[in-house]
Amino acid sequence: MTTGQNYDVVVVGAGFSGLYMLHRLREAGYSTRVYELADDVGGTWYWNRYPGARCDVESVFYNYTFSVEILNEWTWSARYAEQPEILRYINFVADKLDLRRDIQFNTRIESAHYDEATNRWNITTDEGTPVSAKYFITAVGCLSASNVPHFKGLENFEGEWYHTGRWPHEKVDFEGKHVGVIGTGSSGIQSIPAIAKEAKHLTVFQRTPQYSTPAHNKPYDPDRLKQIRENFDEVKEEMRYSLTGMPGAPRDRSALDDSPEERQRVFEAAWEKGGLMNLSYTYNDINVNAEANETLASFIRSKIREIVKDPEVAAKLMPDFYYATKRPIIDTDYFETYNRDNVSLVSVKNAPIEEITSTGIRTTEKEYELDMIVFATGFDAMTGPLFKMDIRGKDGVSLQEKWDDGAQLKTYLGLATTGFPNMFMITGPESPSVLSNMMVSIEQHVEWISECIEYMEKNGAQTIEANVEAEDDWSSHCREVAEATLFTKTDSWYMGANIEGKPRGFQIYLGGVGPYRQICDDVAAKGYEGFSLT
Ligand code: NAP
Repeated sequence: MTTGQNYDVVVVGAGFSGLYMLHRLREAGYSTRVYELADDVGGTWYWNRYPGARCDVESVFYNYTFSVEILNEWTWSARYAEQPEILRYINFVADKLDLRRDIQFNTRIESAHYDEATNRWNITTDEGTPVSAKYFITAVGCLSASNVPHFKGLENFEGEWYHTGRWPHEKVDFEGKHVGVIGTGSSGIQSIPAIAKEAKHLTVFQRTPQYSTPAHNKPYDPDRLKQIRENFDEVKEEMRYSLTGMPGAPRDRSALDDSPEERQRVFEAAWEKGGLMNLSYTYNDINVNAEANETLASFIRSKIREIVKDPEVAAKLMPDFYYATKRPIIDTDYFETYNRDNVSLVSVKNAPIEEITSTGIRTTEKEYELDMIVFATGFDAMTGPLFKMDIRGKDGVSLQEKWDDGAQLKTYLGLATTGFPNMFMITGPESPSVLSNMMVSIEQHVEWISECIEYMEKNGAQTIEANVEAEDDWSSHCREVAEATLFTKTDSWYMGANIEGKPRGFQIYLGGVGPYRQICDDVAAKGYEGFSLT
């Protein structure tokens, strides 16, 4: 029984998803409280302040689309906006919609327990006052639980160390320093060129070489912005029913149907355009056919060989997994950075890091003296942020127990899970989430959840809960779709493979943003088919 504050809805997180959720619910007249660990809005863009951080989805498509006014009042400076600009945008929206008054900052949700007697969620925070709500909504993001691997001796390191996903608010000074970066995922590849420009020496500790292709970032041409703005209704529709939430689609042709010369021409043109999807979209079988995938993979390897002057360094940078089965990366001068005199590359694949010493990093081969270590080592993705809270549904069963720590991950549509009535996850596991333009997926989920709550309240429903069969079917469908691609053939964070002890399983729905939207809309149109309402 709760004696603290009572709300219709409690939302966890004040990033893009939590903010829009709050706006929608408040507009619909529900008392809503958002809890946020940080001292301000922004989510991912609040925490990831490392040098070079920017979004890999083109700016004009990586913003809210629900308000024409907001759309027209904001002008992006560049094709790929930097983190400070994105954070300014989020603040602009929070101010415009006066969202902060319903957000409690500096507060961690510790537990959320469903009470079957009252059909309400009882929530505790580290700040003390108990809270209760009819609906509990997680807007915690997919990549917010940062992962610092358990390196022996880290506590003894006498220099500074930072994780890219928990970057300080003050400027970090690299000047005159020997800096080590561990990790060459998106965060590493974005930060390495920026750090190299300032540091005395930068040593990159690379376990898996990556496919990275040029972003070709540039300031926006006002005519392009004008054209997008004038046609935004059509652009928005195209994004919503696309594969990845961005305009465009894979060309309807197999890579194996073209001659090597023609493929080269096609890949060169896409490389020149730059951006996240242009290379993947050259052919329709890049993600499903190993041979087709290899044509693009070897094209990118040839580019790395062209850019990196020292053949030994270039050889170390050659990726050998299926292209795009780890998140493809777009960069600004990443491979060029290895041509600098103050940058060295250490492969830790065969000679792993053994220990962090008081003065640096020791691999099984050698010791490196460092003043600073940057951990660009990623996140416990998808389930990690949810498991940070003690979420318990019916019969006191925790989400972690139900999902057997991820081994039995099961959701219905990635939005809900059986045994946890009146709980919704925005961009949860088994939804398109991180394999889509997050803004499109966030808006879709927020709108679907708002409409579901409206439906329930209009019909006097007390609870909504996913049925066991519907959940089983959805999770099986997710696995089947993933198995038909090359994604499951690579150890990646999509598979949970980056976290020691985390069970392997593809955590994201790959059926495409448009088909997924249609499925969710059909479920709603059929009176929330697959859910039980009481
Ligand atoms: P990540 O892709 O998981 O990369 C982590 C890196 O750390 C990998 O190179 C990994 O090597 C390495 N690593 C981990 N543990 C290690 C160890 N014990 N020893 C040596 N190396 C180790 O993480 P991330 O770069 O932060 O990116 C995560 C995701 O966030 C991205 O895929 C993307 O979805 C998102 N993101 C997006 C942007 C953007 O939009 N521009 C920017 C940053 C992040 P292995 O590959 O061998 O595991």
